[in-house]
Amino acid sequence: MTTRRPDDRQLDGGRLLPLVEDFYTIQGEGYHAGKPAYFIRLGGCEAGCPWCDAKYTWNPALFPPAAIGAVVERAAASGTEAVVVTGGEPLLYPLEPLTAALRARGLRVFLETSGAHPFSGTFDWVCLSPKRQHPPLDEAYGRADELKAIVAGERDFEWAEDNAARVGAACRLYLQPEWSVAERIMPELVAYVKAHPQWNVSIQTHKYMNIP
Ligand code: SF4
Repeated sequence: MTTRRPDDRQLDGGRLLPLVEDFYTIQGEGYHAGKPAYFIRLGGCEAGCPWCDAKYTWNPALFPPAAIGAVVERAAASGTEAVVVTGGEPLLYPLEPLTAALRARGLRVFLETSGAHPFSGTFDWVCLSPKRQHPPLDEAYGRADELKAIVAGERDFEWAEDNAARVGAACRLYLQPEWSVAERIMPELVAYVKAHPQWNVSIQTHKYMNIP
């Protein structure tokens, strides 16, 4: 898949970004599940995961670059302590101006990424969710605080282990069932985690809560 993402000139070095949406909600997945967080979702992704629940973000041309000041203000005014920068794939873009502005407002800044593009920005927490068809760059593994591997079928356990072998010793490990097959795959996933207790189960709890 190709996307026509905006070039550096159009992004003014990251002071403008293709914002899809932003909202204050409860983090549903992974290490921070259950905690409130302000989400900033950027448009554009080249991974093409067939089960992606954010396909509406894939084409960045639908989201003309917008100045980051307004979304930083909304996040700061929301009452949140933490902001999740997600997508799409946020690392398609230079993120230092956004993360610096959020941190200057006293907010903790988390990243959700496939790790397939060079890092930019300063983060308090990095969730690496590797995608087989567009794998992480080497540099992503050393930056991951949390590895979240999506399990849609049996061979995804092997993919998860391949990635777990590359992250740091302190990185938390999560296996998350792909939502559309979660019911079917859950018994196998539970058995796997019981047999390999370095892993944790991550559930998309926001879908049960009917929140974004
Ligand atoms: S990497 Fe994430 S946003 Fe991109 S296609 Fe896959 S699930 Fe969707």
